[in-house]
Amino acid sequence: MIIDLNAAVANPFDGVYDLCVCGSGPAGMTVAREASARGLRVILLEAGGFEPSEASQEIYKAKSVGALEYYGVETCRLRYFGGTSGHWAGRCAILDPIDFEDRDIWDGLPGWPIARDEAYRRLDDARDILDIGDQSLSPRREPRWKSARFSPSGYARSAPTRFGEKFRAELQSSKRVTVCLNANVVSLDLSEGKSAVTAVNAADWRDRHFKIAARRTVIAFGALENARFLLNMGALNGAPIGDKGGFVGRCFMEHFDIVLGRFKAEHSVIWRRDEALSVTLTGAQARARGLGSAVVSLTPRGEPRHFGRLAPLRGLINELECTVVSSDGRSTICSGDGIATDIIEQTPNRDSRVTLNSAAKDRFGHFRINVDWRLSKQDVKTISGLAMEVGKAIAEQNHGRFKIADDILAGSPVPGFHCHQMGTTRMSSDPKFGVVDANSRVHGMENLYLAGSSVFPTGGGANPTTTVVALALRLGEHLAAVNAR
Ligand SMILES: Cc1cc2nc3c(=O)[nH]c(=O)nc-3n(C[C@H](O)[C@H](O)[C@H](O)COP(=O)(O)OP(=O)(O)OC[C@H]3O[C@@H](n4cnc5c(N)ncnc54)[C@H](O)[C@@H]3O)c2cc1C
Repeated sequence: MIIDLNAAVANPFDGVYDLCVCGSGPAGMTVAREASARGLRVILLEAGGFEPSEASQEIYKAKSVGALEYYGVETCRLRYFGGTSGHWAGRCAILDPIDFEDRDIWDGLPGWPIARDEAYRRLDDARDILDIGDQSLSPRREPRWKSARFSPSGYARSAPTRFGEKFRAELQSSKRVTVCLNANVVSLDLSEGKSAVTAVNAADWRDRHFKIAARRTVIAFGALENARFLLNMGALNGAPIGDKGGFVGRCFMEHFDIVLGRFKAEHSVIWRRDEALSVTLTGAQARARGLGSAVVSLTPRGEPRHFGRLAPLRGLINELECTVVSSDGRSTICSGDGIATDIIEQTPNRDSRVTLNSAAKDRFGHFRINVDWRLSKQDVKTISGLAMEVGKAIAEQNHGRFKIADDILAGSPVPGFHCHQMGTTRMSSDPKFGVVDANSRVHGMENLYLAGSSVFPTGGGANPTTTVVALALRLGEHLAAVNAR
């Protein structure tokens, strides 16, 4: 059943639910569907309606305050039924085996507390949800690519699945899930010892407040908002929930997007296709060179892109140089050059973080956030090392000659991002290094869980949503098991 809180004349909530899921994006909707399929009575609270609205979107207003500009704080999220799946691009990939090893490039922090097989135990079901059919996620066969530095990437294309559209009718007719639209979750009531959630408080857009009781609660607001919610709960309760290690809001990670350089693409058969060639840095190479994970797209005839606060100025200077300097003499990357772009791992970094902005509140009285997005020394090493590896891989196969971008050569890269927000409530078995345990339960809380990429301890070089959905299925399954005890 789907109800609209704005239109409800009486309190529509009915007794104690087995599970209250907050947020209806890919993470929350998947947990709710999976838990209900296993017999749980679920209430799914969604802040927005069936369509995006300015009022709801405005709640996400926040500031980028870091050395790296992060305008994605406002443009990378949708606050309505189905969440950000309303405009995701549908590239599906999974983390590499190396992403589940303990690596010394992670600022002394532990990586995933679960094995890769366990993270992707429900991958087949995630594939169905994301409509990727029989497309393989394993490395592709590309006999003309022979460098051991990179292997041709495995990835699939989702339609892309819009969760709100795809599952609306199913949820409408569901007997076990009640979806409540226009229900802004504003706070949690805690038990006396602050170790359990006793009720979830939600407000509609007419400022009417409701209490929802459930045995267990999952917060699935997306990475920035999960941290913001816990930090705001902390402001109300004295200390953020699950913050023994001080990690709520820390280790905010994106995937870097940067033009590594340009190549001449005339003389090799590998460039005869129009499409970009996508290759993944091999685990052996990443390990040997101490680099983070990455996927690189080699596009024979690309368009240069510029990132950061000075992007318009850089673009202008670039254009000028492209029109006055001959191709051989210039260092600039121009339209039509072969271009190497990427999805690069940002290593977890305590100082790259989300904090509350004590000077700005939303209409529900919650502090907005400041996003301080930073590049660490390791990130600079990964970006420049990757550019070197691309150059060597192209040259050693005689596919062309690669020229590394100036900002990377100068040691001051200015990357953009992919709208893959991760890491602000990281998963760790040890509460000293994370916010949730291996089952996504908030440390120190009996019945509060988080879902989505905020729990990623590391982000590898894979688009996050396939992993988000696989983990959400695992969480739904776990919640059904503990509910039965
Ligand atoms: C332009 C773009 C392209 C992308 N392309 C890709 C891609 O190709 N591949 C890929 O893997 N990923 C991609 N992503 C990322 C992908 O969209 C996210 O990984 C995914 O949506 C995360 O799902 P989620 O459920 O955790 O969060 P969201 O989808 O953000 O959902 C959060 C939900 O919580 C609700 N909510 C928030 N606050 C409250 C509250 N207080 N009370 C109640 N409800 C609340 C929101 O309304 C929303 O429904 C892309 C993102 C963008 C922006």
